[in-house]
Amino acid sequence: MSEPVSSVAVLTPVGRGAVATVRWCGPADVLDEAARGLFRAASGQSLTAQPLHRIVYGQWGTVAVEDVVVCRTAEEELEVHCHGGVAAVRRIVGDLVAAGGREVSWQVQQSQRTSGLEAELQMALSRTSTRRTVEFLLEQLTGGLLASARGWRRLSWGNDERRQAAEAIAEMLRWECFGRHLAEPWRIVLTGRPNVGKSSLINALLGYQRAIVFDQPGTTRDVVTGETAFEGWPVVLADTAGLREADEQLEAVGVARAREAVAGADLVLVLIDVSQPATPADLELLAGHPDAVIVAHKSDLPDRWGEFRPAGALPVSSVTGEGVQELQRRLMVRLIPQTPRPGAAIPVTGRQVRLLTAMLTALRQPTADAWLAALEAFWSGGEFA
Ligand code: GDP
Repeated sequence: MSEPVSSVAVLTPVGRGAVATVRWCGPADVLDEAARGLFRAASGQSLTAQPLHRIVYGQWGTVAVEDVVVCRTAEEELEVHCHGGVAAVRRIVGDLVAAGGREVSWQVQQSQRTSGLEAELQMALSRTSTRRTVEFLLEQLTGGLLASARGWRRLSWGNDERRQAAEAIAEMLRWECFGRHLAEPWRIVLTGRPNVGKSSLINALLGYQRAIVFDQPGTTRDVVTGETAFEGWPVVLADTAGLREADEQLEAVGVARAREAVAGADLVLVLIDVSQPATPADLELLAGHPDAVIVAHKSDLPDRWGEFRPAGALPVSSVTGEGVQELQRRLMVRLIPQTPRPGAAIPVTGRQVRLLTAMLTALRQPTADAWLAALEAFWSGGEFA
């Protein structure tokens, strides 16, 4: 068997910061003065003599000495917390590479030090953006999904156990859509004729000037997006160019992108401008999106839609702010009608959903072979062949 390779990875984001963290996965004595002179604890004790999780203050290097904090986080693993400047980080990484480590990304190091499933959850955690989504993802790591997977690895092929596992997996799969959005914002696409006020409404929803507003139809030629959170849930708002027959080349590109944006949306918002009489294009758009949330926009101006106004349309004005909060609430009720109970195990990636589906099918087989193969893939971060 080949020797395990020591690795070094920078855990903090690229660029300058106040503090940076470098993780070393390998023997701690590499850092001890006696061996290489990389780190000297202020207490004078060698690192290997320090208990796990003790925060050890000391100095790095013998020339251009730098104050750092080192913490052993596992038998063969430690973190160096150093100055966040790029040069300081590169120097520590360089010293550890010279001491025999291989520099890898934090994602690669994470997959080497934990199960693929745990690494996948941690990567999802690094991409998520609100406290609410962080809480759900942390629950998957501290119990939830990881604990369920651990339990399944001990499953004997008895009927009761299989039935219970099948029920648990079916329940998890109910939250597939919710779970996948914990690391990827819900996507709301605004559509409507040119000049109905899509850019203005995006600005009103985001609370700052993001899109360019002009009163010439067709000035929003491309898909403009803005990320925010409604009620603590991350959402991306995409503003499309008017979906209409394009008469110019440039506009045609925008219209094609707009169609793509609508196709990839979790929810479509159709805007109508109630200050202008209904046009066939408006009615076509409404008919084409029967599930859309409808906004009766420019509600501060006199209504010229009369009987054509769709029943459920919400009056909103981006100028006065009328209806904007209620719109946010309606959007979230549509996107997240229910949330899982706290602590519930839920899949958070497409891969997890695919494998849980395969595992559910495998539980109905007379032998455990397919189940074990799917479970192993689920646990290790692979795919089911
Ligand atoms: P888009 O082409 O659909 O993105 O429309 P814009 O956001 O560029 O808005 C077109 C015009 O309508 C601009 O002159 C806006 O100032 C105006 N407008 C947008 N929303 C409202 C609103 O709620 N009330 C009124 N009175 N005017 C609005």
